Amino acid sequence: MLNSAKGNNESAGLKVWRHAKLSIALFLLSLWGIVLVWGINMYRNHVENTSQMLKQMNSAIEDQTRSQFRLVQTFLMAIDGWLMQNPESTVINEAFFNSFAYSGKFRKETGLFVDFYAIDSQGNIYNLASDYPKPNKKEALSHTKTLSHKIALGNVRDREYFKALSGNHGSNIYISAPLKGRVSEDWVIPVVLPLSMPRHGVEMLLVAIKLDILNGLYEQQRIKPSGSVVLFKDDGTLLTRSPSKEGVLGKSYPQDIEYFSQHEKHSTIWMFDSTFDGRTKLISYAPLEEFPVSVVVSVDYHDILKSFWKNFAVLLGLAVVASVAILLAGKQQMRLLAEQATLNIEVSRMATIDPLTGVLNRRRFIELMDHEFARSRRYNNPLSLLMFDLDHFKTINDTYGHQTGDEILIVFANVVIKNLRNVDFFARFGGEEFVVLLPQTPIEAAKHLAERICKIINQLRVPIRGKELSFSTSIGIAALQAADLKPEEILHRADRSLYDAKNNGRNQVGTIELEQQ
Ligand code: GH3
Ligand code: MG
Ligand code: MG
Repeated sequence: MLNSAKGNNESAGLKVWRHAKLSIALFLLSLWGIVLVWGINMYRNHVENTSQMLKQMNSAIEDQTRSQFRLVQTFLMAIDGWLMQNPESTVINEAFFNSFAYSGKFRKETGLFVDFYAIDSQGNIYNLASDYPKPNKKEALSHTKTLSHKIALGNVRDREYFKALSGNHGSNIYISAPLKGRVSEDWVIPVVLPLSMPRHGVEMLLVAIKLDILNGLYEQQRIKPSGSVVLFKDDGTLLTRSPSKEGVLGKSYPQDIEYFSQHEKHSTIWMFDSTFDGRTKLISYAPLEEFPVSVVVSVDYHDILKSFWKNFAVLLGLAVVASVAILLAGKQQMRLLAEQATLNIEVSRMATIDPLTGVLNRRRFIELMDHEFARSRRYNNPLSLLMFDLDHFKTINDTYGHQTGDEILIVFANVVIKNLRNVDFFARFGGEEFVVLLPQTPIEAAKHLAERICKIINQLRVPIRGKELSFSTSIGIAALQAADLKPEEILHRADRSLYDAKNNGRNQVGTIELEQQ
């Protein structure tokens, strides 16, 4: 209370600064909180959408693949049926078959450009309809009456399907593991039907589905860049994969199929560290049911993340721009606020502080005294007042000049401050008059203080322009009395005490009021 205006000024400025900073921090925190929640939601939607897309894709590819196999199956069964009804016919020579096969209709209809072959009981394989070797339609129709007229393309005795089906008659179609055709050198999935009634040496019919054409279909549909479409046999044999991958065709992945088959059809499954490439994938799985084949479509987790970041980056960019804008605007605003606060404090300081000595001014002292007076009365606490008037100050001014007078006033104020407690109120009451209000202080203690200050002032030597100047003060003293109704009553008694001190020769503490206490 003694002289804390400067400190107040700083701490109030700091408060404003801290407050503004806190508001900006809170605003930024909420902004980034929203961005975070939004981002998480966006991510979830992304995964959900990808999952939906994957399911739809899986369902479409499943349908397509099923129709392909169904078409091949229908064709093979139709031939078998026809042969049963026409026991005298041959397989190769039959005009019906030739025209059917060579017309190219079926091959085109499947969209797969499948090739047809006949296989005899020795495993010799004969071309019925394929581009290898290039068929000569006329020749095929006129000369190849029986198998013996036809030249075998090769032998398939060692093939898995031949071993599996040899001796079987009239069972269902057999889908073999993919293999590289011996003639065409194309990768194909052989679909084989053992004839119900073998004739003229023909034991089996074989349709070779070309993988590059099947993959072409899948390639159009898979999620680019790293999504894949994989066709498995139910025993885990990989039939084909788009995009094609070295070394996986025909390999067996029974654990993967086992794992997928534990899930519902078309449900999306997270697969960490995929067996194929060790990457994390989101997978949709669908068994064809009619055929021992399953379609597995997948998307690489990095694809999902990448497309998520693409969208999220825009939001992130906006948030960064907004944050920078807020920070810049906030900084400017904070500076203005701090300036304003400093100004306000300066104004209020000027309204409460004496500009020469820096102690409280009369107006502020009266306010504080009103407050202390009421409090002391309420709690029945002692309250004392000292009133100072410097002795012969006019003479000091006249002798040493007004400026020296001012310096003496400052020195006086500083000496008094040093002898006060923090709870005391010290004010310049006017001219060379000062007052000190001493809360919780009985008059005896106040008297001791007054006498101490009086002595210190009297002993003081102020060096001014090569001379040592001394001065003195008279001090009036008064304390709150039970009958007091207004603070002015104490001031009035202190004034009388001061007058008493002056009258008794100055440089002393007035005693008149003491006697009346
Ligand atoms: P005493 O009180 O002992 O009776 O004598 P005095 O000379 O001090 O008389 P008085 O209190 O009446 O005079 C006060 C003088 O203080 C008058 C004025 O010139 C001087 N004074 C008042 N305010 C200031 C001020 O701010 N600066 C200076 N230098 N002098 C002031
Ligand atoms: Mg005076
Ligand atoms: Mg005086």
